[in-house]
Amino acid sequence: MLGEFELIRHYFAAAACARAGGEVVLGIGDDCALLQIPSGEQLAVSTDTLVAGVHFPDPCNPFLLGQRALAVAASDLAGMAATPIGFTLALSLPSGDPLWLAEFARGLDAMALDCSLRLIGGDTTRGPLSLTVTVFGRVPSGQALVRSGAQVGDLLCVGGVLGEAAGALPLVLRQAEADAHVAEHLLARYWSPQPQLALGEVLRGKATAALDISDGLLADCGHIAKASGVALQIERDRLPLSEPLRRFAGDAEALRCALAGGDDYLLAFTLPPAELAPLQAAGWPVQVIGRVMAGEGVQLIDAAGNEVPVSERGYNHFNA
Ligand code: ADP
Ligand code: MG
Repeated sequence: MLGEFELIRHYFAAAACARAGGEVVLGIGDDCALLQIPSGEQLAVSTDTLVAGVHFPDPCNPFLLGQRALAVAASDLAGMAATPIGFTLALSLPSGDPLWLAEFARGLDAMALDCSLRLIGGDTTRGPLSLTVTVFGRVPSGQALVRSGAQVGDLLCVGGVLGEAAGALPLVLRQAEADAHVAEHLLARYWSPQPQLALGEVLRGKATAALDISDGLLADCGHIAKASGVALQIERDRLPLSEPLRRFAGDAEALRCALAGGDDYLLAFTLPPAELAPLQAAGWPVQVIGRVMAGEGVQLIDAAGNEVPVSERGYNHFNA
């Protein structure tokens, strides 16, 4: 069995994503990493913890876990329109199983290279399996997309098809089976979220508010509504639903997953109407699902404009 320092050196410091460069002046190996932020830019920081048995099934495929842990954290940089710099990894491990570590590090490295994030440090302890990833990004001063800027008259948009990761949960937990290609598609949406980093950067100076959808569309839109002091109206029939999920779980469940499922890691944002056409013409995945109005809260309406009651609004760890 490897000791703590050999383990860090072998699996993490030696990973391709751990090379210094760009804004990372000094990476793994000293008491702190050193980052050089270009003048006129601000540092964006976010932390996410994944606990075995709470955020992912235990045991699970360590390669996929490495990918997912980093993607979930990187998605917060997308939601802020920040350009990725690097991340730290605080790892609590029940044992130093070399096979597990090698696969975990490989998944982490693959997602880190996809997201242009450098591994700059971390902490390694023995304990129940849990992962904490802190991501660092940069954004021109004043141009981060915060939750509080939505304006009455803006469009409410999302960056793609909703609900697939939540809909994949019965497959993740092996409580259900599906056709091979449907299962593959849905499981990929759970295990390998694709943080919308490029979309976030393109929305700088255009969107008025943004976040990444992690707890479910209704719950997360509620955060924008509250922070901006506005109401958000969502048109049920404009929600981009998943064909594979509809086939697998049915229309009602696909809708429930899209509204309240969580784990999408797509962007939700508010956009002045004039910004829409150029973004769509340039090929960006921008789907209008509703609009910003005076008032408060999030309302779901049908095609006739009548309010649709919703019982379940999203995931909250401390709700009964
Ligand atoms: P210290 O005791 O000074 O906090 P550590 O002994 O915990 O430092 O870690 C030594 C170096 O290895 C530090 O640069 C730290 O950031 C890095 N490190 C520790 N664990 C990890 C990990 N899981 N992934 C990446 N870097 C790590
Ligand atoms: Mg330490």
